[in-house]
Amino acid sequence: MGERILGKKKVARQGMLENVMRQFDNAADILDLNPNIRKILEVTNNELVVHFPVRMDNEEVEVFTGYRVQHNNSLGPYKGGLRYHPTVDIDAARALAMWMTWKTSLAGLPFGGAKGGIKLDPAKYSSAEIERITRRFTYALGDNIGPELDIPAPDVNTSAQTMAWILDTYMSTKPPAERSTNTHVVTGKPIGAGGSEGRDRATGYGVYLNIRFWAKEKELSIKDQKFIVQGFGNVGYWVAHFLDRDGAILVAVQDQYGSICDEEGISVEKLHDYQKGNKGSIVDFPDADAIDNDEFFGLECDICIPAALGNQITAENSGGIKARLIAEGANGPTDIEAEEILLEKGVEIIPDILCNSGGVIGSYYEWLQNRNGEIWQLEEVMEKLEKKMKESFTRVVKTSRERKVDMRTAAFVIAIGRLEEAYIQRGIFP
Ligand code: GLU
Repeated sequence: MGERILGKKKVARQGMLENVMRQFDNAADILDLNPNIRKILEVTNNELVVHFPVRMDNEEVEVFTGYRVQHNNSLGPYKGGLRYHPTVDIDAARALAMWMTWKTSLAGLPFGGAKGGIKLDPAKYSSAEIERITRRFTYALGDNIGPELDIPAPDVNTSAQTMAWILDTYMSTKPPAERSTNTHVVTGKPIGAGGSEGRDRATGYGVYLNIRFWAKEKELSIKDQKFIVQGFGNVGYWVAHFLDRDGAILVAVQDQYGSICDEEGISVEKLHDYQKGNKGSIVDFPDADAIDNDEFFGLECDICIPAALGNQITAENSGGIKARLIAEGANGPTDIEAEEILLEKGVEIIPDILCNSGGVIGSYYEWLQNRNGEIWQLEEVMEKLEKKMKESFTRVVKTSRERKVDMRTAAFVIAIGRLEEAYIQRGIFP
């Protein structure tokens, strides 16, 4: 048995790993989780750290560090994204891998949890360099990933294009007979390279659906609800798109470069077009006012959607939050202290492992299609996604009422309970 990765009694380390471990401990206590299974789930199964050289455009060689942490595969192959960001390190990969295990378990998918990525700032590299970095990283991962073993997907700063490069590199290392049968080694691919209709919008659509289900419970209409979005990438844009379609009003957006606000409403599609021509940034959008980043979370609104990085809502800024709902598009955006403050104030939180699970559910549909040689239409994917999301949402709300706990605790209790059952039925080898 490996050493527990972060003990309750050890010195507090601020970060996502501390958050996920405390969330786990809290739910495990409530569930009265079998102590042996608790020992298994609080450590990761495998951790891979690779250092690999890549030739840059200027002919110099740079050495990069990549990670893949496989937390648990008792319910199926390891599954989870790869992110390219300066904050990627072993603890971040561990935390994010654990969240994936809970997420896939909660969604009832036949997958486990993994996460990884490369510590780098992609803005500093050309597209050709990012391609070489991606291919060399894939080569370094070798057979530690695979369509029935560990299936990466896009995450922060990685895209369908990144997945296509991984697929191509992975296949190129296989014998000819295996090359065309391995497309499900990654999900979130471009449609032409074996991707699925709807996977691009699946995470954002799932966040939107959760907000819609929540509004229905509260007998509220989505129309005229004011919302703010942190991060206007794949998740932030799509959730704003669907909320806007139902008449909700986007009042502010924040990205890594700055924040903009317009109480009358920001046009989602205009901002999206502007961003494409502005090196991916929303800053200086002509139809909104620039505001200080510090003002963002305190803005007057009904719904707050963090859809960027972890630990964004903290003890410092949570007291000023006016929204009555936080819908977590990102993984781990609310830290433990902030969560206590928010729940105390009566703010509801749709937790990440439920709220953003549309992405991995969409990935599951892509994986199934590749594996079975099928191609589904967009409507079919979206319908299936909605049905699955509704089931998860309903189960979390029911458990939260029955056990008189918040939605995050309820989601964790369901997710961990499913894993506990699997371990008890299977027993421990030998
Ligand atoms: N990166 C996404 C997440 O955090 C998707 C993972 C996947 O599709 O495997 O859930």
